[in-house]
Amino acid sequence: MTDRMDTRQNRQSIIDAGLEMNATGLNQGTSGNISLRCETGILITPSGIAYDKLVPEDIVLVREDGSCPDEQVPSSEWKFHFAAYRAQKTANAVVHNHALNATTLAILNRPIPAIHYMVAVGGGNDIPVIDYATYGTGALSDLVHEGLIERKAILMRHHGMIATGPTLAKAMWLAGEVEALATLYVNLLQITDTPPCLPDDEIDRVLKKFESYGLREKA
Ligand code: 13P
Ligand code: ZN
Repeated sequence: MTDRMDTRQNRQSIIDAGLEMNATGLNQGTSGNISLRCETGILITPSGIAYDKLVPEDIVLVREDGSCPDEQVPSSEWKFHFAAYRAQKTANAVVHNHALNATTLAILNRPIPAIHYMVAVGGGNDIPVIDYATYGTGALSDLVHEGLIERKAILMRHHGMIATGPTLAKAMWLAGEVEALATLYVNLLQITDTPPCLPDDEIDRVLKKFESYGLREKA
């Protein structure tokens, strides 16, 4: 079956997002990976190839059964991308990176608490940290699945972050917001170990408002 979402334009949008992720300092080198949900599976970055060397043909279609008709080897993390889509049913894009401040907190196993109302972009009152498992493993995808059931973004211990979204632009936006929150929290931790946080009832109000708030994409 041909996949109507496996288009040159969708493949190029993944490359553009990878370039943006590195240009804005959200990621470095060949770390990280990006996928889009499509009809027969996912379109994902290939493993270990610099984003600035990628052409649309290098993006890999991975089908639901794990098979790949394309030439390149898919990202080593293709399994957790599937897990993310299983957990976040409305997500159509998944962004993973090793953003420095998010990863700093992940290493210290410090979820980002409600230091700022924008923490609600992740879908709750914190951005949690999932336990460590070796990259590329089924154990890591199980942890990712569990972490993303209640949140749109998570930190991964000794590794990085994952952000999801209904579109690639929104997943990228969320990844940028998570790194901004992580940077704030790292700054606060230089001054105090216990920065003041917003109470849960305020985060609940913000979550309600966020049902109609976020990145507005122009047609
Ligand atoms: P890939 O190049 O295989 O996508 O690996 C990068 C990465 O971040 C692994 O977690
Ligand atoms: Zn990684």
